[in-house]
Amino acid sequence: MKIIKEEKGYITSIILLILLIPVLLLMIIIIEEYSEDTNTTIRNIESEKIKTKTEDFENEIITISKETLHNVTLDVITRKKALTNSRTYLKKIIQEKINEKQKKYGAENIIINTEVKQIESSNDPFKIEINYIITSTANNSNIKIRKENKKLIEITDTKYPVYDPLPTLKIGATIKNNQINFQDKLAEYIESENNTAYTNAKTSIIIKKCPYSDYIQHGNNNQTITNCLHNHYYHNSHDGLCLLCRLENKTSCNHYGIETFILPTLEYDKAPASIDHVLLNDNNNQYDGNKIKINNKTILYLDNGHKTKYGL
Ligand SMILES: [Zn+2]
Ligand SMILES: [Zn+2]
Repeated sequence: MKIIKEEKGYITSIILLILLIPVLLLMIIIIEEYSEDTNTTIRNIESEKIKTKTEDFENEIITISKETLHNVTLDVITRKKALTNSRTYLKKIIQEKINEKQKKYGAENIIINTEVKQIESSNDPFKIEINYIITSTANNSNIKIRKENKKLIEITDTKYPVYDPLPTLKIGATIKNNQINFQDKLAEYIESENNTAYTNAKTSIIIKKCPYSDYIQHGNNNQTITNCLHNHYYHNSHDGLCLLCRLENKTSCNHYGIETFILPTLEYDKAPASIDHVLLNDNNNQYDGNKIKINNKTILYLDNGHKTKYGL
């Protein structure tokens, strides 16, 4: 009888053990799945962090580029010396600043490597194009991001004003309080008749985009054109030079460029046209325009092309 009892207990233990096996197996599977989930979550957090930091850094690239355009144009008008190759020069300075900034991210465990491929004029003359390759990862991570990207850099951000180098480079005009007073220099530079129309002419040196984007509206009322002239706004122009070629003191360029009015100080029936790339052209390409009276104090000389463009 005792033996049978013991056997019974033995059998019960075996049955219990057999029943426990699937429970244990199930637990192992659940634990493994849980830890795999945790690993995926960690990987996701890590990859999200690298992604966000990379985007942050790409915004830094834009700021660095704007700052560089501000500094370089200011330096050029201060030293009155043109750049031999504005594109490679800007590329070098921007790359140096990026390298510096990358070190700071490195201290926060994010390793970023950017190679600036190209700085070029864009289809919008108020923007410069930057091309780069960026790779990023974190210390001890096997997640790596690589992006080849292109960004457009605004040259009209008031936080980083960009200066027009052309008046200074062409005729050595001096700048005071962000304004140029040409004194006799512009009149002497112009080779055609009635050049004295520009004696003591003044102009701004910061590139500001004209808000009247439908240019023909300049002629709609006196207030529009007066406001444009008063603020020395710049406009899109096929004949005007782009910023990068202005930095090289070129006379013409193949890119889509910008132009601004230069206000005359003396009244004639006709005189050289009051457009910067006409007056500051050094290939005997300055041409005349007819007088247009804006108000008692303000006149412009414009050729037919520009007259039509601005609806004046
Ligand atoms: Zn305008
Ligand atoms: Zn150009």
